[in-house]
Parts: sequence; C-alpha cells; structure tokens
Amino acid sequence: MIDEGKFHTQEMTNRLEQDIREKFRRSGYTLTSQRRAVLEALRDTRGHPSAEDIYLLVKKKNPRVALGTVYQALSVLEEIGVIGSKHWAESPTRYDLNTEPHLDIRCRRCGEVAEIPGVELGNLEAQIQENTPYSVSSTTLVVEGLCPTCQKE
Ligand SMILES: [Zn+2]
Repeated sequence: MIDEGKFHTQEMTNRLEQDIREKFRRSGYTLTSQRRAVLEALRDTRGHPSAEDIYLLVKKKNPRVALGTVYQALSVLEEIGVIGSKHWAESPTRYDLNTEPHLDIRCRRCGEVAEIPGVELGNLEAQIQENTPYSVSSTTLVVEGLCPTCQKE
C-alpha cells in the first residue's frame, strides 16, 4: 500500500528545503512556524482551499491561531512566490501550492475547484503582446462548469 501522506510530506520537505527556503532567503522574510503551518495546511488539503479553510486546518493543531495571522501568512507566501491564488466571482480567493501556470475549473453549483490536466496555457501572454501594444504583467483565466456529481443531480 502506498503511504500517500508520507509521500506528500517527503515531497513538501524537498520543496521546503530547496525552493521555498531559497525564496524566503532572497525575500528577507523568515519561515516562521505560522507560515510553515499554513504551507502544511495547503499541502494537506486536496483542491484549492480558501483562507478560512486553511485557518480551520491550522487551528486544529494550533487552537490559538487567529484568522488575521493566516491572512498575513498567505499574503507573504504569495508575495514571495511560494503559493499562488485565484479568484472566482462570488467565491473566496483560493490558494494553491502549484505556482506553475495552469488552469483550474470551479463547479458553479458545489464550489469544488480542480486542476485541469492536459491543457497548456502555452504562449498566451506572448500572443497577447504580439496582438496589442500592451506589456502583459499577469494573466488570470477563470474557468467554471458543473462537476460530474452536480451534473447527475
Ligand atoms: Zn459540483
């Protein structure tokens, strides 16, 4: 049997030691226990949790944590590029450990967010720059639909 928890912990540890630690070092911020707890909550959540979801998870291990602390940690983690965020209308901002360009789809009915496999964002930004006089600084694509469960109902 594959121990999924162990695998993800190992994966997280590798990223922490290399990528995340390096980003913290360069930014001048410290990887505090609270920021680490937020990263671990993100790792342990399937899908793309909101700040409130992350807060509830962190609170299980550290009952004294405040929602504001979680928001501050998320803001720093996003600022230094350790996590990404996406926002769909009528839904709280969702956070993601996957900072590579990728598409996520949100179910309009139950709110579940899932990564879309097999679709490349490709050179969308380069194409936009070719076709407009703008210099593109960021692109956010929001995809919505109905998940398989909600399609049946
Ligand atoms: Zn759904």
